[in-house]
Amino acid sequence: MADLDSVKRFLKNYDGPEMNIMEICGSHTAAIAKNGIPSLLSPKIHLISGPGCPVCVTPSSYIDRLISLAGMKGHCVVTFGDLIRVPGSGESLASARGKGARVAMVYSPMDIIPMAEKEPETIFVFAAVGFETTTPVYALLMQELTEKKITNVRLLTALKTMPPVVEKLCGDGAPVNGFLAPGHVCTVSGYAAYEPLAEKYGIPFGVAGFSGQGLLIAITGIVKNCGKGVVKNYYPMVVSREGNREAQTLTDRYFEPAPAVWRGLGMIEGSGRVLREPYREYDAGSFDLTEDRQANPACRCSEVLTGRVRPRECPLFGKVCTPMTPQGACMVSQEGSCFTYLTAGRRD
Ligand code: SF4
Repeated sequence: MADLDSVKRFLKNYDGPEMNIMEICGSHTAAIAKNGIPSLLSPKIHLISGPGCPVCVTPSSYIDRLISLAGMKGHCVVTFGDLIRVPGSGESLASARGKGARVAMVYSPMDIIPMAEKEPETIFVFAAVGFETTTPVYALLMQELTEKKITNVRLLTALKTMPPVVEKLCGDGAPVNGFLAPGHVCTVSGYAAYEPLAEKYGIPFGVAGFSGQGLLIAITGIVKNCGKGVVKNYYPMVVSREGNREAQTLTDRYFEPAPAVWRGLGMIEGSGRVLREPYREYDAGSFDLTEDRQANPACRCSEVLTGRVRPRECPLFGKVCTPMTPQGACMVSQEGSCFTYLTAGRRD
């Protein structure tokens, strides 16, 4: 284990080439703010947020479809709390609910099972949003639904995987010299998935945990490997090269890769997960969600999500757009860059 004082000294006194390090994961964005990491870095090391908050990258057409389903007779949309306030191209699920649409909030996808059993005449639609970490839970839900022969549940999927979006960022020339690879996602997927990208683009990846110390050690490793196409694991207690095989197998039983639309990034081949053919009767229409129109055209979420602007550079930040009055998805979730920068006072 590296000595923390020497790590801090190295990062504060670093005087090499300018480094832009992207934290892909929204939980890292929040942990970086919580631990005051930017204030511990040399002015030559810049941390930028990426597209790693699942709510933030969900396109407006997905929210619009949920609103339309929630307004249909005999339907109820079931979702996690943060998705309810994300603006679609017009309104949010919260405002649709205020007009009579049926929307229920839960803490776990499994909560939909007793709801469906209690009201067999209602179609319950789960807003299945998430990355590699959450998808196995939806697979577990599918297992329960099929075993119990419950037929009045549907999934509207906006499930995504990280490596294709990282490839897109690198291929589009995003201003990034290193990546903090997502610790939670790598727990399931393993970090081997990033090795071809590191090699192809000559960029270092550091798999990081979520403590202040863990983040500082990973950032140090990334800076020291500047220009090298390597993947280093700084979270070995939890993450392995191969990941969680059991979770991967369960996911693959019910879901297959597909193109997916990302808010601000458009369609990315192979970056989504949709239900496999034998289970399509459980799908609520996830295959034609291609549009991504923002409710407020001045919102700069698309540039925030790709590291091109900082949240504070958006003219709406903290004025028109606040957690109480979000104009874009990045101000809604606690893992959203704009939310984190505003509520934690992150100034970098
Ligand atoms: Fe969008 Fe609000 Fe962030 Fe601006 S501050 S980019 S409007 S979410």
